[in-house]
Amino acid sequence: EFAVATTEKHIYRSKLPSISIPDDLPLHDYCFEKLPEISNRPCLIDGATGTILSYSDVHLLSRRAAAGLHRLGIQQGDVIMILLPNSPAFAFAFLGASFLGAISTTANSFYTASEVHKQAKASAAKLVITESSHVHKVQDLGVDIIVIDEPVPAGCRSFSELLSADENEIPKVDIKPDDVVALPYSSGTTGLPKGVMLTHRSLVTGVAQQVDGENPNLYFHREDVLLCVLPLFHIYSLISVLLCGLRAGSAIVIMKKFNLVKLMELVEKYRVTVAPFVPPIVVEMAKSEAVDSYDMSSVRMVMSGAAPMGKELQDTLTAKLPNAKLGQGYGMTEVGSVISMSLAFAKEPFPYTFSSCGTVVRNAELKIIEPETGAPLLRNQPGEICIRGKQIMKGYLNDPEATERIIDAEGWLHTGDIGYVDDDEEIYIVDRLKELIKYKGFQVAPAELEALLIAHPKIVGVAVVPLKDDLCGELPIAFVVLLNGNEITEDEIKQYVSKQVVFYKRIHRVFFIEAIPKSPSGKILRKDLRVRLAEIAQNG
Ligand code: AMP
Repeated sequence: EFAVATTEKHIYRSKLPSISIPDDLPLHDYCFEKLPEISNRPCLIDGATGTILSYSDVHLLSRRAAAGLHRLGIQQGDVIMILLPNSPAFAFAFLGASFLGAISTTANSFYTASEVHKQAKASAAKLVITESSHVHKVQDLGVDIIVIDEPVPAGCRSFSELLSADENEIPKVDIKPDDVVALPYSSGTTGLPKGVMLTHRSLVTGVAQQVDGENPNLYFHREDVLLCVLPLFHIYSLISVLLCGLRAGSAIVIMKKFNLVKLMELVEKYRVTVAPFVPPIVVEMAKSEAVDSYDMSSVRMVMSGAAPMGKELQDTLTAKLPNAKLGQGYGMTEVGSVISMSLAFAKEPFPYTFSSCGTVVRNAELKIIEPETGAPLLRNQPGEICIRGKQIMKGYLNDPEATERIIDAEGWLHTGDIGYVDDDEEIYIVDRLKELIKYKGFQVAPAELEALLIAHPKIVGVAVVPLKDDLCGELPIAFVVLLNGNEITEDEIKQYVSKQVVFYKRIHRVFFIEAIPKSPSGKILRKDLRVRLAEIAQNG
């Protein structure tokens, strides 16, 4: 029995007033709207080289990248693949494509060749921008390859050649708010990774919800220095760090790869004020003695998102960084960034609640439903979190069925997360209904690993589920059914998978069982397996 909410009472909105959000500006014009006021302010700081680029530099180089892409035949509506670690070039490529009305599909540069191929083919990418060390993964795609470093491998072009194009060569394009600009891949609530169509309107709204409006202490402002250490191929860093940072006029320190000591050096050197993290970075920092040897007093705000963070961890970090407010954000690729955000960073009188994921962003609606029946639930009752607003994706690329499964006829996006809203509007996530596994905040789609494993000649049944882990959040593990009479070791299976996937999709344990529990309709009963796993873990 559920106490069902009626009428409007079951819809939650931000405690802050709604804001006016432009509905007609392409993303790049929106991000650079205040350029005349901030043209000489620092925009991107390359943590590796110390190069500081002003807002006008970044605007110019992004437009040159657009002109260079155009020279290579990229047109409005075309897809380019950005296969890069964090770097200023990432920003020029992404914004350059936006200037042309083209679309960026972003991928982890550590992906294996087969992972890159799947995404490049599915998205019909016409060009790839990468580093020379990754060229071998994309060589046989038959598209132009641009590398950002030297020397340029044979058959590739250099990114600096693109940047030597004349910015006035950008063709005139008529970009509509509903045109797609970003195409990250996400498995959503079920199945394989799919192209998430984020439009100019989604991203302008998603950014505005975080940094526009009257409350200057909310999130970022011009005097802020943001640390961009989380990978830009993922929506969290792309939107909540890079695009929000640009819109707010902040300086953005780009760090190519996470390393705690280097991170602290950068914080000290550039007086970083805002540190967007994921829980594993918070864990390392909270445990590290070295934190005390650096001057971290400039940090006023540590944001954690992409995966849950517990109270003890928050307490430990707060003790190490007494000047910093710590709060969580809760986001999802399909929602075009954040669903809720801590108001800890806002001016009083908002209460500061540990372990909540904050309150729903402005200009959006949130409700909690009973997953089976869809009936809305009242406060303090856990159910599936649903979100509605202009920030959510247009749909999955070439997959209307999957789109219909996640966005209902009334425009509500069903997140597949289980949570509740308390009496103070704070959102707490308590469980996950969907299949998704999150390793250090990275997505692992069980269906993808199951497809690899079932292709093995000795395996006839498989289910991949998460195992809780203190450092990584969750680890993918597999239940495997072998073909009669066959023998294969746990290590052989692990290696078979490792060869084909990026590091965070590796299988950490294999359990051999007689049969995979399935519903009459053939769906894997993942809940049963999670219970079985908990029992195994308890019994050692
Ligand atoms: P992604 O699309 O990769 O951003 O993954 C989105 C999913 O990550 C959400 O639907 C949640 O399951 C999980 N997630 C994101 N942020 C949080 C958070 N602050 N606490 C708990 N889970 C989170």
